[in-house]
Amino acid sequence: TQPDPAAGAAVHAADRAHVFHSWSAQGLIDPLPVAGAEGSYFWDYDGNRYLDFSSQLVNTNIGHQHPKVIAAIQEQAGKLCTIAPGFAVDVRAEAARLVAERTPGDLDKIFFTNGGAEAVENAVRMARLHTGRAKVLSAYRSYHGATAAAINLTGDPRRWPSDTASAGVVHFWGPFLYRSPFHAENEAQECERALAHLEDTIAFEGPQSIAAIILETVPGTAGIMVPPPGYLAGVHEICDRHGIVFILDEVMAGFGRTGHWFAADHFGVTPDLLTFAKGVNSGYVPLGGVAISAEIAATFDQRPYPGGLTYSGHPLACASAVATINAMAEEKIVENAAEIGEKVIGPGLRALAERHPSVGEVRGLGVFWALELVRDKETREPLVPYNASGTANAPMAEFAAACKRGGLWPFVNMNRTHVVPPCTVTEAEAKEGLAALDAALAVADAHTA
Ligand code: PLP
Repeated sequence: TQPDPAAGAAVHAADRAHVFHSWSAQGLIDPLPVAGAEGSYFWDYDGNRYLDFSSQLVNTNIGHQHPKVIAAIQEQAGKLCTIAPGFAVDVRAEAARLVAERTPGDLDKIFFTNGGAEAVENAVRMARLHTGRAKVLSAYRSYHGATAAAINLTGDPRRWPSDTASAGVVHFWGPFLYRSPFHAENEAQECERALAHLEDTIAFEGPQSIAAIILETVPGTAGIMVPPPGYLAGVHEICDRHGIVFILDEVMAGFGRTGHWFAADHFGVTPDLLTFAKGVNSGYVPLGGVAISAEIAATFDQRPYPGGLTYSGHPLACASAVATINAMAEEKIVENAAEIGEKVIGPGLRALAERHPSVGEVRGLGVFWALELVRDKETREPLVPYNASGTANAPMAEFAAACKRGGLWPFVNMNRTHVVPPCTVTEAEAKEGLAALDAALAVADAHTA
């Protein structure tokens, strides 16, 4: 498409007149007008094209404008655009079957929502009703969504303004060796101490009052911290021992992101409830859900489940999920994520870490990687302080601006940049992105000791 700056300016003006944006001081933002997108790229009206190393909000696992998904939405729109959740519909049943076929173990019943936060809300509701208990434990360094319970469960500063409603939520520390809350020196120690800390938290909170523990299988927004071997199995064992429901939040980590359909597959664990959204249909139409174990599903065999949504299992969303999952299987997109991660992104990022004094750690799986940017590799002092804003955050803002000047759209959170391209990313695109990161990291290096 031809650049059309005037059209871009009109879109920007119209946006600023009436659109109220998420997480933002409305007077301080300058949203980029986007003219189009395809595959791993999107572009603006001024002729700038960006390689999307953020997959938007880590959701376009299948890339932008996949023709099979577009065709399925168009076909479904011509057939049946909407129908209440109480009816049985072909695409809804098929989407549920395809999800259930891929979720681990006996997670065979699917409750559909419109996104991740609603999935978390409903998983927590199911756990509370199933156990008759109120409290829910979640981790610091986590993100679970922005609705009432989901934001309270979240372990980052976005929770603070909504904290007053956090009745029944208790936070604990998960494992994170690079910044170990337990002063551990290796993964085995980190795992053992994190499990002991969780046991202590449960003992002091009262096991009989705890309905659920919710964890991201691999915490995403908070830093892509792959748990040490044995940690998730250990949490599962603790949950089982105390009759606590184990919820894994796979909203970000699921549907190919880690190089498996679900991140839980890396660790051989089956939770009691699993939440998903994002990659299930790459966000072409809003969709999320909860995959439910046989035991918890049975709780609601004779007793009504007291929750629902007008658009639960929306036909357009389900049609796009069916097409997405089938295309991912046919085109071996999950395998691609694993292979590009192992052969190109992982080694490429490790090489960047060797060259750049600002890269403190590289970690990840599949197309789910984080670079921890630091002022000093020895002390591990973060490039910007926790939750920095304004001038304190300038080094990260400069780094992000340098990425964009180099044609790369980065995911940036606090002192980290995440490398989270679509699961469809090609070797050539991954290398193009790594080269752009290499150039932009010089900006971060200038802030090192
Ligand atoms: N859970 C996790 C792990 C997430 O990463 C997110 C979003 O980033 C959510 C829940 C919330 O999903 P949504 O924004 O679709 O409500």
